[in-house]
Amino acid sequence: MNTFDYLTPETLEQAWALFQNTDAVFLAGGTDYMPLHKKGLKTASQVIGLHKIPYLKKIENRPNGLFIGAMLSLADLIKSPLVNAAYPALCGAARFVASPQIRNMGTIGGNILQDRRCMYFNQSADWRQSIDPCFKTNGKVCHQAPRSPTCRAIYHSDLAPVLLALGVQVECFEPKGLYQKTLSELIREHIDCNGRMQKTKTLLTGFIVPALPANTRLKFVKQSARASLDFAIMNAALCYKPENAGQTVDNLKLIVGAVGPEPIELTDTENFIREQPSSLVSLKETIIEKALAEINVKSALIRDTGVSVKAGKKAFGAVGRLIEEWYAENIA
Ligand SMILES: Cc1cc2nc3c(=O)[nH]c(=O)nc-3n(C[C@H](O)[C@H](O)[C@H](O)COP(=O)(O)OP(=O)(O)OC[C@H]3O[C@@H](n4cnc5c(N)ncnc54)[C@H](O)[C@@H]3O)c2cc1C
Ligand code: SF4
Repeated sequence: MNTFDYLTPETLEQAWALFQNTDAVFLAGGTDYMPLHKKGLKTASQVIGLHKIPYLKKIENRPNGLFIGAMLSLADLIKSPLVNAAYPALCGAARFVASPQIRNMGTIGGNILQDRRCMYFNQSADWRQSIDPCFKTNGKVCHQAPRSPTCRAIYHSDLAPVLLALGVQVECFEPKGLYQKTLSELIREHIDCNGRMQKTKTLLTGFIVPALPANTRLKFVKQSARASLDFAIMNAALCYKPENAGQTVDNLKLIVGAVGPEPIELTDTENFIREQPSSLVSLKETIIEKALAEINVKSALIRDTGVSVKAGKKAFGAVGRLIEEWYAENIA
């Protein structure tokens, strides 16, 4: 394994200063980064541990929502009374991540900034010697899709669909101060850098989860080959704020993850639901068909050693279950 210096700053300013070295990376729980470093897929000579910065582990109510520090472990997120009370489906999604050991170490920030995965990339150095480098290893080709100009590796975060459905803002640090942007902006930047062997140039400090109306429905579903310690074949979240229940449905978000390089929003399905002039009664099957057709069009599955593309497409059916539950509780 390539050796590295392990640095442990105690303030955001110190962490940011160390990060200016082009060969330095941040480390949270290390559950995603360290296996890649061991395989020679990451070669940073300086690794900046963020665990000594108290601000990053904060969890507190703020005027614009609940602030969850990026270094909060998934286990602590699951146990948090504040998060459980306001966003039980977020805790539910975190429970689906990997195993208790990984949830003890792994953080919410690391979950969002995790590496995308591909069977040509997540391999030992020996295995990779027999193929040319691809975009994700500084090459000029994608073995999955030779005509693709970009890396198509899959983004598997289980928390991303829920946080996107909630309309979360992220908070980041720069020397001029803390600033916010949308989570989808951060994910897009990360996806882009991550497919080109570049580090995402952000010090993520936390997530601001907006307060929800009392009757909001937030749901999450994950489909994987094994019940635990497995990446999603597909995951999805639905957030519904029934502002005028029984009439038109304005405020519904449907996000699907792990079916391409970044999560997809089923905007056509959302619009179809929104545009119904009056009741949605008797439209359940139509909505499910629309959602499945939209995932088929927008997803970008790749070959995987464990799961065939056919099995991957079959997993889309889980979104139908999510819609059925929402429909039964709110429309039927
Ligand atoms: C066997 C196994 C199974 C897994 N199963 C799942 C699963 O089912 N679902 C799932 O979603 N994930 C899964 N993962 C992926 C991952 O381990 C977890 O999602 C975990 O939450 C990552 O968090 P971490 O703190 O360990 O990240 P780290 O490994 O510490 O960091 C990951 C990346 O994020 C960057 N980073 C971390 N924090 C910050 C920050 N504050 N600012 C800027 N950059 C930062 C790091 O530089 C690194 O590039 C699995 C991993 C393994 C090894
Ligand atoms: S999707 Fe293509 S470029 Fe990305 S890791 Fe796989 S083979 Fe490489």
